[in-house]
Amino acid sequence: MEYCQLLNNCISAVAPGITALPNMPKYLAAIVILLTLLLPACGRGPITSQADVIIVGAGIAGLAAALEAADKGAEVIVLDANSVGGGHAVKAGGLAMVDTALQRDKGIKDSPELATQELLAWGEDANPEWVKRYAEDSGTEVYDWLVKLGVEFKLILPTPESSIPRFHFTKGTAVHVVLPMLREALKQPNIRFLWSINADALLLAEDRVIGIQARNLRTGGTFQLYGGSIVLATGGFQSNIDLVTSHWREPRSSPGRLLIGSGQFANGSGYLLAAEAGAQLQRMDHQETFVNGIPDPRDATNTRGLTVTNRQAMLISEEGNRFVDEALPSKDIEKAVFAQVQQKFWMVFDTDGAKKLGVRGAAWLNTNSVRDEIINNPALIVTAANPEELAAKLGITHTSLLNSLQTYNTSARKLISNPPLYALQLHPLTRKSMGGPAINKNAQVLSTTGEVIPGLYAAGELTGVAGINGSYGGSGTFLGPSVYIGRIAGAAAAADSSFPTGELEVISTEKSALDLDGYWHYKVAHDVVYANQLDCDSCHKQTPMAEVASNQQLLTRLQTCLNCH
Ligand SMILES: Cc1cc2nc3c(=O)[nH]c(=O)nc-3n(C[C@H](O)[C@H](O)[C@H](O)COP(=O)(O)OP(=O)(O)OC[C@H]3O[C@@H](n4cnc5c(N)ncnc54)[C@H](O)[C@@H]3O)c2cc1C
Repeated sequence: MEYCQLLNNCISAVAPGITALPNMPKYLAAIVILLTLLLPACGRGPITSQADVIIVGAGIAGLAAALEAADKGAEVIVLDANSVGGGHAVKAGGLAMVDTALQRDKGIKDSPELATQELLAWGEDANPEWVKRYAEDSGTEVYDWLVKLGVEFKLILPTPESSIPRFHFTKGTAVHVVLPMLREALKQPNIRFLWSINADALLLAEDRVIGIQARNLRTGGTFQLYGGSIVLATGGFQSNIDLVTSHWREPRSSPGRLLIGSGQFANGSGYLLAAEAGAQLQRMDHQETFVNGIPDPRDATNTRGLTVTNRQAMLISEEGNRFVDEALPSKDIEKAVFAQVQQKFWMVFDTDGAKKLGVRGAAWLNTNSVRDEIINNPALIVTAANPEELAAKLGITHTSLLNSLQTYNTSARKLISNPPLYALQLHPLTRKSMGGPAINKNAQVLSTTGEVIPGLYAAGELTGVAGINGSYGGSGTFLGPSVYIGRIAGAAAAADSSFPTGELEVISTEKSALDLDGYWHYKVAHDVVYANQLDCDSCHKQTPMAEVASNQQLLTRLQTCLNCH
């Protein structure tokens, strides 16, 4: 088809990676050709493309949706504001799944009934239907499906919320779960990826969502993508402090200082897009806020945090009282912290405990970095030769500190007694969203009146994830449900792709066009290379220095993800 070829030439000049489909309506193609011919040398202008299914977000939920939709025969476009795929899963750990082949191999007897009961009890107000569905299906629809894609689960850890081990791990982090998914998606001829492309707005015609107003974050160029149906898989909103605090859960006390503990792209734009299309946002105050945060000493903005753990430390309040048993599950510690009027509290340890301080994240596996940048950093930590000096420096009474040390030392296996003493102030830190657009059983987004919004689907942490977690997130109950609901959304969207004609409406507000940088990951990755004095060859030996332009090029580059993650 000649018009298609011409169109593709023009499109590739301004929006690499996009091609017009042979089934693109001729009138649409004609308009685009006219527009592009009017622009010198096919210069930057409004370019359109279409697919049966458009997926916003190439995290674990978006990839599951893409693989499923492609498997059902749909032409799929996946766009992501980031220049790489995987989303938060590249930093995450394990997946909670029920009655899996690995559990059976290890002699662990699990059942959907037991899992349903335990997930509902832990979450306190989880959605019983989704919990039951997930408990019944995750062994086959998540575990078996991932294993078939090449994911190798090796280990199952016990967690406080379940009576038997259910928290599945690969040989490393969940990067080993999401990479096989990305690899498979890159091999599919009917999945096209568009990187560094932000969804700024939804396009609506005859009350059906039919496309995306898209923006190239590297060039600033804008264009429109038309889809038979649209899946939003944009992740949570935990890096948008305004959204977090405006949905702060009552009666929790508000945090004095709240650190950001979620990824750069978790800015909540998907919530705004869905809300603008009339979606009902539910459980927005259900947020998993960790209470073991410290400011990230490497963050120039002084807003981001890291999480720390220490099994040889005690927690004391602003008054110096040991206010919680540190051995309790994180949920109980979280409740104890938020029951305080102010969340000013310290983790206190001695020289032996300093060696046990764990900081989450690949960058902090190096113990010298922990010592130099955290333990020996006076901006973060108070050091004292004895309890009296520590009490004076923290502004608490010597007696309350001594009482706390005494109660800790009578119950702990390892005493806090070997000076110097350290006090590390902890802060609440945002992490995971457990609310979002309401969806029905097919992952179709529901309006504020409970009607289906035609053409619009949602999956993953954006849905929070469908109430499976209730008020308290379980271990691994984000990744697994994101895959599960992603697959449901992908299959349903593939079966529901139609292209209505009629007047087109762009529903957009400036709020969803949040400011982002298309080079964010590029810069972060290269900072790591410089900091660790790595050779360029460590990533570029087999892959081009130039920008990735095709699925095939990205496929060869995927192995380099493991250099940092
Ligand atoms: C440090 C950390 C550890 C974790 N550990 C675990 C764990 O062990 N187990 C567990 O179950 N869960 C864990 N989680 C949570 C889990 O990782 C996430 O809930 C899950 O990965 C969410 O997947 P997703 O695909 O829904 O969203 P994301 O992974 O957030 O992906 C969304 C994608 O959408 C893109 N995007 C966003 N807005 C737009 C837009 N407007 N236009 C275009 N693209 C856009 C983003 O760039 C991103 O790539 C952890 C989270 C963090 C931060």
